[in-house]
Amino acid sequence: MDDKLKPGLNQGAGLGTRVVWGGEQVQHPYNATQTPIVVSAAYGYHDIDEWYDVALGKQPGFIYSRMSNPTVSVLEDKLCELESAESAVAFSTGMAAISGVLHTFLACGQRVVSTRDSYGGTNKIFEEFLPRMGVEVTLCDTLDIDAIEHQIAKGCNVLYLETPTNPTLKVLDIRRLVAAAKSVGALVIADNTFATPLNQNPLALGVDVVVHSATKFLSGHGDVLGGVVCGSEQLMSQVRHYREINGASLDPFSAYLIIRGIKTLALRLRQQQTSAQALAEYLCSEPLVESVNYPGLPQHPGHAIARSQMRGFGAIVSFVLAGGMGTVIQLLPLLKYAHRAGNLGAVETIYGPARTTSHVENTLEEREALGISEGLVRISVGIEDTEDLVADLKQACASVRDKQRHESLPAGKRERFTNVGV
Ligand SMILES: *Cc1c(COP(=O)(O)O)cnc(C)c1O
Repeated sequence: MDDKLKPGLNQGAGLGTRVVWGGEQVQHPYNATQTPIVVSAAYGYHDIDEWYDVALGKQPGFIYSRMSNPTVSVLEDKLCELESAESAVAFSTGMAAISGVLHTFLACGQRVVSTRDSYGGTNKIFEEFLPRMGVEVTLCDTLDIDAIEHQIAKGCNVLYLETPTNPTLKVLDIRRLVAAAKSVGALVIADNTFATPLNQNPLALGVDVVVHSATKFLSGHGDVLGGVVCGSEQLMSQVRHYREINGASLDPFSAYLIIRGIKTLALRLRQQQTSAQALAEYLCSEPLVESVNYPGLPQHPGHAIARSQMRGFGAIVSFVLAGGMGTVIQLLPLLKYAHRAGNLGAVETIYGPARTTSHVENTLEEREALGISEGLVRISVGIEDTEDLVADLKQACASVRDKQRHESLPAGKRERFTNVGV
């Protein structure tokens, strides 16, 4: 067995069981059944030898909560169970996790290969922060796998992947790119936020390090920020050291909320994916819509690869509205069951254009270069009833079509049109 994969306490149990029990089969103070929120900054010792042994890692225990914390440790253990990882390290946000990992494994003079479609914040690290540290960054066209392989073959230290991508849901062939990276000895990092550990386990496909924004589906309620990194103990000890010193540790309240959220991940995702498929299918027939991105659609270019490496297609759908931002501005306020917000992965359905969500960090020119149209809208599908979500989007699209038809009439006719009460 690969040394970064660990059987875990609940090996053999389904992921729906592991989300509930993973990391939590431990004795808590007062026989509490729920993980306590331990707020202590430091941990005290009468026995100085014991204190010293804990500090040196010769004995389990805690010293100072920037280094490790009992509540945060339960979350880390839960993620190990879900990704079948040997070790996990939690961070204060997903971006802290991503920048922590990239800074742990890259140094001046080294090279990273990735794709243009990564999360907006990740793209900024690649475009702005890594080059000024002397790291060479090559971002390839996400859909051109030959070009990615070609860049990897030139030699690189890290291959960084994100699949499915945000917000255009492109799917990368993980096994094939891992093989290319291994042939040049590169470390492979994958952002698994969109898929979640329930749909995709990159470590099992050969990836070395998995990162998650726990702000999204893992916590699931849009009320907490966090990030988690998973992999072999050998790699995670380096990431943990980086976090201990650079300090973007997760606070115990947030860790508790994420633990609580993960318990319902399997239930939530099942409902969200059912609705995502229904919304995607409806959008394909909607005249206002130019194109629909959802890996669960048979015509999606990454559908076959998604089937081969994912257990489900996820709960994010995006689509391009004819008429660009003008139509976006008309449509979004008409939705009843939707937050218009920058988050995703929550129990409520959330709609947002790339301009104010995934690529809020980028300029119009940068979005254009990334092929992200101003008419693109992302839906993070919530747990509401499928029929209500489809009906809501249908009524909003129908109203916009009526309004646009009305506005396209000459002024005189428009009057009459209005008078008949349409
Ligand atoms: C949101 C997100 C991040 C960043 O996570 P934060 O918790 O917001 O810092 C990284 N990657 C993906 C795919 C995301 O959706």
